[in-house]
Amino acid sequence: MSSETTNKDILRGGQFLVKETKCEDIFTLEDLNEEQKMMRESTKEFVDRELWAHWERFEKKDYAYTEECMRKAGELGLLSVAVPESYGGMGMGFVSTMLVCDYISGATGSFSTAFGAHTGIGTMPITLYGTEEQKQKYVPKLASGEWFGAYCLTEPGAGSDANSGKTKAVLSEDGKYYSITGQKMWISNAGFCNMFIVFARIEDDKYITGFIVENDPENGITLGDEEKKLGIHSSSTRQVFFNETKVPVENMLSERGNGFKIAMNALNVGRIKLAAACLEAQRRIVTEAAKYANERIQFKTPIINFGAIKAKIADMATNAYVDESACYRAAKNIEDRIAIREADGNSHQEAELKGVEEYAIECSILKVAVSEHVQHTTDEGIQVFGGMGFSADTPMESAWRDARISRIYEGTNEINRMLAVGMLVKKAMKGHVDLLGPATAVGEELMGIPSFDTPDFSELFAEEKDLLARLKKVFLMVAGSAVQKFGPDLEEHQMLLMSAADILIQIYLVESTILRTEKNAKRFGEEAQAAQIAMSKLYLYRAVDIINQKGKEAIVSFAEGDEQRMMLMGLKRFTKYTNQPNVVALRTQIADKVAADNGYTFD
Ligand SMILES: Cc1cc2nc3c(=O)[nH]c(=O)nc-3n(C[C@H](O)[C@H](O)[C@H](O)COP(=O)(O)OP(=O)(O)OC[C@H]3O[C@@H](n4cnc5c(N)ncnc54)[C@H](O)[C@@H]3O)c2cc1C
Repeated sequence: MSSETTNKDILRGGQFLVKETKCEDIFTLEDLNEEQKMMRESTKEFVDRELWAHWERFEKKDYAYTEECMRKAGELGLLSVAVPESYGGMGMGFVSTMLVCDYISGATGSFSTAFGAHTGIGTMPITLYGTEEQKQKYVPKLASGEWFGAYCLTEPGAGSDANSGKTKAVLSEDGKYYSITGQKMWISNAGFCNMFIVFARIEDDKYITGFIVENDPENGITLGDEEKKLGIHSSSTRQVFFNETKVPVENMLSERGNGFKIAMNALNVGRIKLAAACLEAQRRIVTEAAKYANERIQFKTPIINFGAIKAKIADMATNAYVDESACYRAAKNIEDRIAIREADGNSHQEAELKGVEEYAIECSILKVAVSEHVQHTTDEGIQVFGGMGFSADTPMESAWRDARISRIYEGTNEINRMLAVGMLVKKAMKGHVDLLGPATAVGEELMGIPSFDTPDFSELFAEEKDLLARLKKVFLMVAGSAVQKFGPDLEEHQMLLMSAADILIQIYLVESTILRTEKNAKRFGEEAQAAQIAMSKLYLYRAVDIINQKGKEAIVSFAEGDEQRMMLMGLKRFTKYTNQPNVVALRTQIADKVAADNGYTFD
């Protein structure tokens, strides 16, 4: 964080919707410092050497190889980036943590799941909520890879409804330990971990409680067989059964009844890291697809020359670029917020918790958006490879299967869509984000006569930024009227919430992308950023389409008569281009750049 950055300069979570951000104020991948670039390079080297070169082993359910690679990652310090130095870690900032999550995840979903489950939900509950003794005892071992962690929240009857678990924790008569009994399922890393974070209910408490449980088969812990899964074949996923497992009272995490909060906060961090973990996979797929399309000849022509293939390559590259832009913008916001809180006297632990919590809306947005883009990109990757894409001998097939899980774990995308809008409405109620003022202004604008001035759109992105400002009004119009109409019952109207979330997601992605490119065009020149400018314009065009469709769906479903007509007119006005972009030209320009570079070269 620059020394001049102050609390008031940084947008609070969710404020992107109602406040303008200048391009100088967002962080981009091009802002990485030397240390971060080195970190990225050493992560990439590790991935190429240990993971990418052996990707078939991950498809053959070689769980032992995943464990071996996890140990090697530990030796290189890659498991300890986010861990404070006082507990044997590197204590690097949030951006560096995201970088490692991003670049370590390109080769196989099996390893990225093992890595994410260990460094994220398996370790973070202790670094964020543990006592000093708990941290000293467990965190150094987890940071070095001497021990591995797993996270036991889900049960057969408690998935999305995570607080409904039946696992019980009963205090012993002498008050020295809890006895845990219950069944957990879908537990990543269960097959090789040394320690579990377990959530269980004490008596009839409203909320569950978190515990650190060492993996000792002599202590009533048994494992189910490895689950037979669609993808991530070498990520260990098992059921874990606890039968009167004794856990010393000092292994309770935080306080009794605080487990749901711990679980949710661990997931906030997990969500943005999961988004990061879907970035390098996209870049590699674009690169593999470009290489293949440059080499594969049909009709005496490399298939990259066909417009149908160019369109795919252009959209795939654009998604990756957009996702990077949004992920690193949010990562730096979190890093800065943590620094501000520490400067205000919070402990690192407290600062990190609050820093991530502040941007929980953005974390949910990113989780949904990036997991859906990686799915689309792997699907189109298969299509570019044709029949070879369907073959298990090429990496496209496994990438497609591996990508599927990202829409399910760390909170399904349906739950995260509802959370994103729900948290925003709550922040507005608390006065943290002023939605009411801007929403009222939009209402007044709708009643007024539109301006017929011809604006000056000569500067780079002038029209795009004007349109972006109006897209924000679509959200305010739709969500504002929905809140007015349904009040606290809004959460019952899920289809409406899904549409509102989709609008919100597109706004964050578009803004992050345009600002990144604008910042880079200013410092590196527009010519050097020609393809990135084209990607920004193409993505905006696609986002406008989505927002139009979702906005209309919402308006025609909950508004009637004059109100409906007025809102539909507003939608038309707010999504109108003065100069429509030439989409074919944009896609051609982007694809030609990717083809010439024989891969994705925008990071
Ligand atoms: C490979 C893998 C690894 C995993 N690793 C772990 C792990 O390490 N630790 C752990 O604790 N868990 C883990 N999970 C569990 C995972 O987090 C859950 O599968 C996920 O939260 C969804 O829960 P569920 O499967 O019970 O689905 P359900 O909750 O039954 O959901 C089924 C469908 O209903 C929808 N739905 C549910 N509730 C609502 C609602 N209120 N409104 C609208 N729609 C709703 C969901 O979005 C989904 O589409 C893992 C799962 C898998 C498959």
